[in-house]
Parts: sequence; C-alpha cells; structure tokens
Amino acid sequence: MTRLICLSSGKGGVGKTTVAANLGSALNEFGMETVLIDANLTNPSLGFHLGIPLYPETLHDVLKGDVDIKDATYLHNSGLKVVPAGLSVDDLKNTSPESLPDVLLDLVGGPDFVLIDSAAGLGNEALHAIESSDELLVVANPDLPSVTDALKTANIAEQAGTDITGVVLNRVKGSSSELESEEVESMIGYPVISSIPEDENVQDSISLKKPLLHHKPKSNTSERFRKLAADIADIDYEPKVRESKGFFSRMLSFLKK
Ligand code: ADP
Ligand code: MG
Repeated sequence: MTRLICLSSGKGGVGKTTVAANLGSALNEFGMETVLIDANLTNPSLGFHLGIPLYPETLHDVLKGDVDIKDATYLHNSGLKVVPAGLSVDDLKNTSPESLPDVLLDLVGGPDFVLIDSAAGLGNEALHAIESSDELLVVANPDLPSVTDALKTANIAEQAGTDITGVVLNRVKGSSSELESEEVESMIGYPVISSIPEDENVQDSISLKKPLLHHKPKSNTSERFRKLAADIADIDYEPKVRESKGFFSRMLSFLKK
C-alpha cells in the first residue's frame, strides 16, 4: 500500500526539504520504493538540495493537466524517484495547487512511500499538500516561534482529517535555551518521534547537492534519519551511535596504548 506522507511546518527554513531528502534516502536504503514530490510550488528547493538539472516535465506541468505525474518522475542518482517543481517565473505565478490531491492519487498502488515536501505556512499550497496526504510529519526547530507555528499546522491537519504521525525536531543543539522534547510535545499535543541534531555536514551536503546519507553515511545524524525511516516503515533497526571523541579523550586513548 502506498503511504502519502506530507512534511510541513508553520515557519519556513526549519528543515522540511532536508528531512524529506534524507528520510527518503533512508527509506530507499531499507528497500522501500520512495517518490519525493517538490510541492513547494512558489519556492521549490528540492532540486537545489539534490542537484536536479532542469527537467522538461515538472509538477507544474502535471498540475496544469499537460502531463501525467509518472512522466514527471525522474530517477535521481541516489536511487530516489523525484518529481521536481518548475522554476520558470510563469510556472511560479500561474499554477494552482487545487488538483494536487487528484494527481497524487495516480501514484497510489505504485511506490511504498510518497513524501510530499510542502510549502511552509497556512496558505493554499500547504493546505492542499496536507489535504492530499494520509499522514503528516510536522517539522519544527526547538524554539518557541517555530513550535507555536507548528501548532497551527497541526490544527490544519486535524481539520483536513490527515493523521499526524508526530513531530520531527530538527537542528537540536542541546543548549539550555532550547525547548525540551517534552515541552514541545505538551505544546503541540503530538509525540516528538525524532530529534535531528544541528550538524554542519548538512550544509556541506546541500552544497554538494546530495543527501547527508550519501555525503556522511556513517554519521550520527544519518543514523537518526535511518531510525526515523525504520520507525515509520515499522522496521526493527538499532542505530549505530559513534562516540564523538574530543581532543582530551583522544589523547587519553593514545597514552593508554
Ligand atoms: P525548509 O525546507 O523547511 O525551508 P531546508 O531543509 O531548506 O528548510 O533547510 C534550511 C536551511 O537549514 C538549510 O540551509 C540547511 O543547511 C539548514 N539545516 C537544515 N537542517 C539542518 C541541520 N540538522 N543541521 C544544520 N543545518 C541544517
Ligand atoms: Mg523547503
């Protein structure tokens, strides 16, 4: 059965596209056929994250009724299947997301997972992406403005009848000024199902135009994405946590040799 999962947030820039690309890669590694949809119609960015060249057919053409969604699905060199959004000014101005629920239905029965990378906020684009999906992953950062806005996204999903799988807390630094997972859970009313650390390798992976799972496959952050994917796909997986050795512990193990 194909599961349609939307990644959305109240606030922009919290890491929806990063989580979508890496969760998709992790699901793919587990042998789950996964299609990533760039449903951020006015501000597409999945193509930038994955280095997708300009394709002849995009989600904008699909929404205009000009092509079938299967013909706008491309195989990325990471093994992911991607439906990119158009980048022309004409596309960005003149496409409406109303037909998104219908066009996504054409994928049902094919892949195991369809991940819908939505626009932030409460506008039409985000609304139709949430309405089109069976499940919602709310992406938020551990700060008050982000979590307050995420609560509004959760309310929209409740009104649309979309199940809320949980919150992915991204860019967690572990500083005392951050909201704890428990605080986020009591504010939003849904469980935090994953905490993804702040990791400078994420920015590097985006500039290299590949998912972090391909750039730093053994990193703890990549393992967090694998664990999230395993939990979503109901697969048993024990993440391998690597000790980050500081200078003094490295010196100590050197002297002990
Ligand atoms: P959104 O899709 O919600 O607008 P993006 O995924 O594009 O957000 O991320 C916005 C920026 O935040 C990117 O430049 C990315 O480098 C940075 N970022 C996202 N997640 C992390 C992380 N876990 N650690 C460090 N930087 C991150
Ligand atoms: Mg994005």
